[in-house]
Amino acid sequence: MIDIVVVGGGITGLTAAYRLSKEMPGARITLLEADDRLGGKISSSTFAGIDGLDESADAFLTRVPYATGLAAELGLTAELTSPAAASAAVWWNGMHAIPEGLMLGVPTDLARLARSKLLSWPGKLRAALEPILPATGVDADSVGRLIRKRFGNQVQERLVDPLVGSIYAADTDRFSLVGVPQIFDLASSNRSLLIGGRKLRAKAAKDPATGPIFATPRGGMTALTGALVDALHAAGADVRTSAPVASIERAGQAWIVTTADGATIRADGVILATPARSTAPLLATLSPTAAASLATFEHAGVVMITLAVRTLDWPSELLRCSGYLVPKPVQQWVTAVSFGSSKWAHWQGTDGAGDALVVLRISLGRDGRDLTAKPDDELLAAAVGEVGGHLGFALAPVDHRITRWPMAFPQYRPGHAERVTAIEAALAGEAPGLLLAGASYHGIGIPACINQANTAARVLTDLLRSVRN
Ligand SMILES: Cc1cc2nc3c(=O)[nH]c(=O)nc-3n(C[C@H](O)[C@H](O)[C@H](O)COP(=O)(O)OP(=O)(O)OC[C@H]3O[C@@H](n4cnc5c(N)ncnc54)[C@H](O)[C@@H]3O)c2cc1C
Repeated sequence: MIDIVVVGGGITGLTAAYRLSKEMPGARITLLEADDRLGGKISSSTFAGIDGLDESADAFLTRVPYATGLAAELGLTAELTSPAAASAAVWWNGMHAIPEGLMLGVPTDLARLARSKLLSWPGKLRAALEPILPATGVDADSVGRLIRKRFGNQVQERLVDPLVGSIYAADTDRFSLVGVPQIFDLASSNRSLLIGGRKLRAKAAKDPATGPIFATPRGGMTALTGALVDALHAAGADVRTSAPVASIERAGQAWIVTTADGATIRADGVILATPARSTAPLLATLSPTAAASLATFEHAGVVMITLAVRTLDWPSELLRCSGYLVPKPVQQWVTAVSFGSSKWAHWQGTDGAGDALVVLRISLGRDGRDLTAKPDDELLAAAVGEVGGHLGFALAPVDHRITRWPMAFPQYRPGHAERVTAIEAALAGEAPGLLLAGASYHGIGIPACINQANTAARVLTDLLRSVRN
């Protein structure tokens, strides 16, 4: 009998365990999760009468097949829905519609950029120089440095940093290009990002298979993690919560995994689907080089505040807008606001009396500004005050929900890919059969986590089969 332990019950660990249950039907699989619930950074709950309203991730990318593929395998395709086609804005001392023709903030259409008042004329003229600049390359490995060099400071500070920064809670001047594959690919294969981006957009527009970029299960993102848990139980896996792993030791060709309460589990292979900082101490004696590097990884904490506002008190023109971003130079605590009821048709709230409510999700904090230790009343006052100031009227929420996400987003610093390669090489040499997967390594979004889980399960399966044969 082959024994496998997966540490961490987020989307990565759950997918890895599920994939192992498919690839190695006879294996004994144990999943150990420190928290008292499964799902990790994925969580949803009932709010404003809406079941499964997400407290964190509310959509996954469909341009890569990993999340949609997993949803299909789990029988969730019919449950998937996509955001309504509403426009988004940037607040820069007033609300500005995001110009069309951007790829994650990178301009691909100068005429449309010229019509926007978000950039000043000197800013627009500087951006217009991009197509004639010599190649920049990706060696500096900082999103901010690349964009500043190519398009100037205004495109970086008012477009790319707010868009990319709001996805990863990042300061993109200190964020590796590998964390943003679309911009990395554009920069590695084109001299001009603008011309390369324009060609890509033209190609996508002609492709009949191009559908919505994002999707989500109607019941909330926990429909995905819940379906994985159900599949694991059906496959006979041992799924334990409140079971933090305290240490991993070598026992000949195998591993002994010990939880904080002293329980031990023998394993032929282990997948560590835990954030880098939590993984480091588990590898301290097995692979000191990998552990020392993992301990240097940084994470950004964020707070998500969900508000319900009476639809009658909500300006009707805002129903056509999906939300807005606040660039760092004009930012206080609020970094982004999503008008959830405009973005998602199924997020239409009601109060106890049956009155209609709109739902807003407000993100506070980022890399370099961790607010997760602030008290509820300060966070709520900041959210209501700042958003009211941006929108120009006093917000009067009838309900709220505050979710803290300490260490929410790993921050991929310049040189991230090389660092991860070195860690994986050290581990393969010093602790073969022990694999890493998850948001800290090869991509932060849900599809990237699923892809890493699939890969780790496949590599471990091959390794264990080759040892047995
Ligand atoms: C607010 C927010 C919004 C987001 N929005 C989106 C979005 O819209 N789209 C998108 O694609 N992505 C989004 N993301 C990112 C995405 O949700 C995460 O990157 C992803 O869910 C991380 O999954 P993971 O399994 O790698 O890690 P985690 O979810 O962090 O899971 C790791 C698990 O390991 C457990 N653990 C740690 N140490 C131990 C130990 N010693 N023993 C046992 N267990 C341990 C932890 O308790 C945790 O449950 C968002 C994230 C946040 C926080």
